[in-house]
Amino acid sequence: MIYNFNSGPSVLPKEVFEQASKAILDFNNTGLSILEIGHRTPLFQAVLDEAIAHVKELMKLDDQHEVLFLHGGASTQFFQIPMNLLNENEMAAYTDTGVFATKAIKEAGTFGHVEVVYNGKPSSFRELSKNIQVPKTAKYLHLTSNNTIEGTQWHDFTQFYNSGVPLVCDMSSDILSRVMDFNKFDLIYAGAQKNIGAAGVNMVIVNKDILGKVDRKIPGMMDYRQHIENGSMLNTPPVFAIYVCMLTLRWLKELGGIPAIEKLNDEKADLMYSTLDSLPLFKGSVPKEDRSKMNATFTIDNPELEKAFLDICKNNGMVGVKGHRLSGGFRISMYNAMPLAGVQAITELMKDFAKKNG
Ligand code: PMP
Repeated sequence: MIYNFNSGPSVLPKEVFEQASKAILDFNNTGLSILEIGHRTPLFQAVLDEAIAHVKELMKLDDQHEVLFLHGGASTQFFQIPMNLLNENEMAAYTDTGVFATKAIKEAGTFGHVEVVYNGKPSSFRELSKNIQVPKTAKYLHLTSNNTIEGTQWHDFTQFYNSGVPLVCDMSSDILSRVMDFNKFDLIYAGAQKNIGAAGVNMVIVNKDILGKVDRKIPGMMDYRQHIENGSMLNTPPVFAIYVCMLTLRWLKELGGIPAIEKLNDEKADLMYSTLDSLPLFKGSVPKEDRSKMNATFTIDNPELEKAFLDICKNNGMVGVKGHRLSGGFRISMYNAMPLAGVQAITELMKDFAKKNG
């Protein structure tokens, strides 16, 4: 048995792997592979329509919010967002909460002014702030809901809901994992390769009202309005990646939707962090109130023991345990498709290792 704790691309439900494999050979009993069907056929249109319908239903989106499947990964959104929303003489507020947030800030600076309203660098991005002031003149406020590398996550958005400016959020690593009022956000984006499906596609949810207000010319493929008008079919979409997203969304719906997965995610995170806190050998990297339920980050002070624990994980079929190359230590990613049994297995290994080496 292999448990995959990678941070993304990451584990997907077994049913999705099985159905996607089958569709490569014979899609819906058509005798055709999903890899060869035309994107403008009713066959694929049904896939895209189903994926969008699941997203709208799961996230309870209102009619103002459009769901798009675009190319380029979340990193493309780092510049596509300011290109569509920010004039050169205007200012957008950004929270610098991690490596990806810093990249988003850098890209936004190419299109307009950026004001960093929270700088997490002094704490090496290991904590978040409860008291962020956002100037009313900001065109929008950019957040990263879950910081994948550092293992922090915003658990309360009240201060942002009250900021009075449009909210833009990178939800790449915790989208669909917990109940939230998604309609409070004017733009949500996420690379698919964690909780949505396969790498190669990007989900963007945008409130139509905030578009069409910048002066610059926007290339067609970068223009959200053109993608909306063309139903995410401005050009050939990543057909297979979208199909895998549809299957994963269908799986989540059948499981009971976001409330059901949140319950499971809470159980996994509780088990992981209570284990971590009970074992002095392992040091959690993030203060309790800011810990991510998707990515648990921790260390062992002794480099030899760190290596020994990684070896033990490997020998027991647990992959993706090593922390990001920029942070070191360990990172256990517990996305939607990670079963509780996986977290039970790794926490048992941690206990056993601490007993022998603590
Ligand atoms: N934002 C966050 C929070 C991420 O975890 C990642 C990495 N998956 C990115 C942005 C960049 O995503 P991509 O590699 O799809 O461009």
